[in-house]
Amino acid sequence: MTRSNIKINENYLNLKESYLFSDIKKRVAAFGAKYPDAELIRMGVGDVTLPIAGPVARAMQRACAELGGKETFRGYPPEFGYDFVREAIAAYYAGFGVNVAADEVFVSDGAKCDVGNLTEIFGDNPVLIPDPVYPAYLDSNIMAGRRVGFLKGSDENGFLPMPDGLDEDAYIVYLCSPNNPTGAVYTAAQLKVWVDFANRTGSVIIYDNAYEAFIRGDFPHSIFEIEGARVCAIEVSSLSKTAGFTGVRCGWTVVPSQLRAGDVTLKSLWERRQSTKFNGVSYPVQRAAEAALSPEGVAASREQVSYYLENAGYIRALLDGKGMRYTGGDSSPYIWMKCPAGMGSWDFFDFLLERAQVVGTPGSGFGACGEGWFRLTSFAERESVTEGVRRLQEVL
Ligand code: PLP
Repeated sequence: MTRSNIKINENYLNLKESYLFSDIKKRVAAFGAKYPDAELIRMGVGDVTLPIAGPVARAMQRACAELGGKETFRGYPPEFGYDFVREAIAAYYAGFGVNVAADEVFVSDGAKCDVGNLTEIFGDNPVLIPDPVYPAYLDSNIMAGRRVGFLKGSDENGFLPMPDGLDEDAYIVYLCSPNNPTGAVYTAAQLKVWVDFANRTGSVIIYDNAYEAFIRGDFPHSIFEIEGARVCAIEVSSLSKTAGFTGVRCGWTVVPSQLRAGDVTLKSLWERRQSTKFNGVSYPVQRAAEAALSPEGVAASREQVSYYLENAGYIRALLDGKGMRYTGGDSSPYIWMKCPAGMGSWDFFDFLLERAQVVGTPGSGFGACGEGWFRLTSFAERESVTEGVRRLQEVL
């Protein structure tokens, strides 16, 4: 066998192998082999379970039919998104009082890609990433060879780390609210502290808003609700969890036109990056996105989000009844619970699997600060959640 002599991106060798979901799979398979009749309840899934709402699915079907007609066929879509979607997204923001211009919205095939690709428009700045959090921020910055520091979440700060104690430096700061996996949500006052810190230090915040639709109560629906955010923040969002688009793939990034580094606007860099490396989202998906963001689509999707939140309510009621520590579940599909009796995340995983045949996600898989915590999700059928809760009631 010959070997190539090319140089690779050695930063990839610094990535930690992610064993989280493969380890879960292995342990569940071993349990299944031992107890083939066991009926597992899965409360660890981060994917939606309800089908796409009727009006949204129909819009996608109509768009597919258009592509099959001579008069209505369309070729390459615009790289930044059709105007009809960029305008629908701007109108969606206006619905919660935020002014975003359609040309500041960049439609994409999902928040994960945007979060990863955004590293390309930045140089070698120190990067701050919450711990625990959705792993894509860390891994994409390791791939880019960036210096990463962690914003430590804990029971004490409610898993909502703040900038106190940070050196005054220009950072790229990732914030995720509502957070995956903790379900914790920043208040406007907390985000104002972050925005003021960013503007004082010349930092840029990348704000991941993928769970915005789950927000209930008095929390900001966008970082751009906060005064000063338009000169220091980029927002990434998605229809994945809002409208069941995990398989359809559509999200967006908002880069305000005032956001500058020196004389350069970050918007111009993102435009250049997208027009060079991205060829846009397919027409049927963009028509589906437009429908999902219409008043009818929003109402239909909100019913689904409410269904998941009601599921979360059953889990929260159980944990409240047991007096257990947790965050999330009220403005998030995720419930982040402290493992009982000082158990580690994986010990508790095994305990629940063996004693209740319930599968969750060990918190340590989302960062070192997640050790001793556990993520339960509400993406499931109601019967499955109530059965899971019944079993947890017995063993906790
Ligand atoms: N951001 C967060 C915080 C997530 O939890 C997820 C998916 O789980 C994503 C982004 C990915 O979103 P998308 O499906 O739009 O790529």
